[in-house]
Amino acid sequence: MIDLHTHSNFSDGTDSPAELINKALAAGVKIIALTDHDSVAGIAQASAALRPGISLVAGAEISCQSDEGVSVHMLGLLFDTENKELIATMDKTRENRHGRMQRIIERLNEAGIAISIDDVLAELADGATLGRPHLADALVKKGVVKSRDEAFTQMLHNKSKFYVAHYSPTPVEAIRLIKAAGGVAVIAHPMASHRGRTISFESFGDLITAGLDGVEVDHRDHSPDEKNALIQLARENNLVMTGASDYHGNGKLNQLAEYTTHPEQWERLEALATERRVITL
Ligand code: AMP
Ligand code: ZN
Ligand code: FE
Ligand code: FE
Repeated sequence: MIDLHTHSNFSDGTDSPAELINKALAAGVKIIALTDHDSVAGIAQASAALRPGISLVAGAEISCQSDEGVSVHMLGLLFDTENKELIATMDKTRENRHGRMQRIIERLNEAGIAISIDDVLAELADGATLGRPHLADALVKKGVVKSRDEAFTQMLHNKSKFYVAHYSPTPVEAIRLIKAAGGVAVIAHPMASHRGRTISFESFGDLITAGLDGVEVDHRDHSPDEKNALIQLARENNLVMTGASDYHGNGKLNQLAEYTTHPEQWERLEALATERRVITL
């Protein structure tokens, strides 16, 4: 089985990269991509944990914002993880997430919810990308909410009055950066409307022109109708179709390999990278 979208505790997943590799192996996953938010910091540990029977794809889920202000997640896979321009953009996003978290906390404090940046940073592993799930974990610890999910439903969702965006490249820029680093760009959960606004079919055209390689079709946040629309779009535009779990450890219900990528689609995708970069033991 091939699972091309997972998170470790180098972003908002709860498993270390080594735990992730072990669990993936036990679940029958043969190829796993580690795609932490705006970071490749967990790749070295994942790589070191490899064993016979499982291969690793280095990746990252790049937070993007379209010109219309819509949040888009772009999976970069099989790129050179030492590419300076791509790393610099991810560094900038990660730094900006701290000021953004301060502003969300100020808004919560103004509404009478007592929480501090130190409470939130206590939920973060060393070197990890800071995100709203860490704030959610801190709110759980304070007894404000019962779970990450409740935190998002009640106060942390994209349309909440507490929501603050952070710096992020446009999806077109992210595609350019990923491809300049020799990798492939796959748009993550493009129709997941419960996360907030999703990009229009028209703006998909700009992404395809920019060199988009694939589209994540099979994902738990897509309805059957949404999947069908994406399959049609992928066929019309010769895009690779992927499926993935978007596993976050205990942070979400998503189970490893609950959706997977067909080997033929993976072969096509892998051939689109400038080099064969799958990491094996
Ligand atoms: P951020 O990166 O700070 O904008 O936070 C977005 C991340 O929060 C997403 O990538 C999801 O992994 C996570 N997330 C969104 N909704 C939920 C939810 N209901 N429960 C747990 N995690 C969530
Ligand atoms: Zn996440
Ligand atoms: Fe995502
Ligand atoms: Fe994700």
